[in-house]
Amino acid sequence: MRYVSTRGGAPELDFGDVLLAGLASDGGLYLPRAWPRLTPEMLAGFQGRAYAEVAAAVMQPFVAGSIPAGEFAALVAAAYAGFDQAAVAPLRQLDASLWLLELFHGPTLAFKDFALQVLGRLLDRELGRRGLAVTVVGATSGDTGSAAIAACRDRPNMQVFILHPKGRVSEVQRRQMTTVTSKNVHNLAIEGSFDDCQALVKGMFADANFRERQRLAAVNSINWARVMAQIVYYVTAAVALGAPHRPVGFAVPTGNFGNVFAGYAARRMGLPIDRLIVATNANDILVRFLATGRYQPEGVVPTLSPSMDIQVASNFERLLFECHGRDAAAVARLMGELAAKGEFQVSANALAEARGLFGGHRVDDRDVLETIARVARTSGVTVDPHTACGIAAARAAAGAPTVVLGTAHPAKFPEAVRRALGRDIPLPPAMADLMGLPERVHGLPNDLATVQAFIRERAEIR
Ligand SMILES: *Cc1c(COP(=O)(O)O)cnc(C)c1O
Repeated sequence: MRYVSTRGGAPELDFGDVLLAGLASDGGLYLPRAWPRLTPEMLAGFQGRAYAEVAAAVMQPFVAGSIPAGEFAALVAAAYAGFDQAAVAPLRQLDASLWLLELFHGPTLAFKDFALQVLGRLLDRELGRRGLAVTVVGATSGDTGSAAIAACRDRPNMQVFILHPKGRVSEVQRRQMTTVTSKNVHNLAIEGSFDDCQALVKGMFADANFRERQRLAAVNSINWARVMAQIVYYVTAAVALGAPHRPVGFAVPTGNFGNVFAGYAARRMGLPIDRLIVATNANDILVRFLATGRYQPEGVVPTLSPSMDIQVASNFERLLFECHGRDAAAVARLMGELAAKGEFQVSANALAEARGLFGGHRVDDRDVLETIARVARTSGVTVDPHTACGIAAARAAAGAPTVVLGTAHPAKFPEAVRRALGRDIPLPPAMADLMGLPERVHGLPNDLATVQAFIRERAEIR
């Protein structure tokens, strides 16, 4: 499979190069040159198969020509072997038309593990093959960081630097990162928001000298391999609910647009998805976009769902590319406008294209707390505040069969759960000692040069 940049100014690459590049050299994001097909026969054949088997089959066309099928299947099986449920992504019915897809049974209790457990192994393999070592840098709104650390810790060919917004991630999220004592793991608490952290990471990649010298690699959701791995659970959920014969909708708690874009990709590949509901918190740039066609970042508001406290949704550029009929020049123009004027407006055609599949729904903290309480009362299930956004947004689907993506385990967000239910929720046994372990973290200002200097210095101490 060959990959093209959404901005049309970077060379086409194969999977291995895309994996290491992250961002394209023209500032765009990579997408496969053509979407592989999931035929009705293939979908029917997935029924009753193990998650890792379906995963290898769904992802294989994306790595074709770069990784032999047998080796890839073994890598994928290893990635999901550590999940604490045999089903890996179990589906639980909440009411007559609503299902919860539990994506929080991986090592760090959020859906990010699905992609990062694969990505860590893919990177390790590719680096080993090339005899290279890299500096992994990533920004996290809370869950990416711990998932990336869990996937990359103790791998000798990677130094890992994770930037998180100081004081804006939950204590459990923070401790899942800062209590890891592996020598190759460095946690940076940045004075700023997640968008600031993300801008710092983008700034590092845009600095060609720094990028080359440090051999930067990205684990953020701009990395195609992450989107690729996230396509799989849309497939397993839809198949469990009757695909290829019955269509289903998905409601997706959304921040960076990576998870819901994977749903879009699944649909393009032939999965019968009739609606993708973008659920946001008060940081509702995507909902406003779907209403008006104007993409206009505002200041980030802290909410009970910190992993969605994002205004600049990186992966949205991938949808722009598709909604403009893959016109890279149009995407480059819009992104130029965004950089120059802080906003852009898409054409009526492009907006209609997006609206044909996507609905948007903003869910405020009060509604999140009410939803957590209501779901506990009516279904006996405790959900986290991000998943609660998805459930509240799914109500907009008005009774059509809908799967809500359960993006995190409720124990990751005990403060919100306590406020909604008046009780604590215990961490799973494997993590019971988290709150007592010593932490290791470096505080740094929101300043690119300072962060670069820190990384330059530390990455050389191997
Ligand atoms: C990352 C995250 C999200 C947002 O996912 P995107 O791919 O950035 O849209 C939602 N919920 C949780 C719990 C997350 O960790």
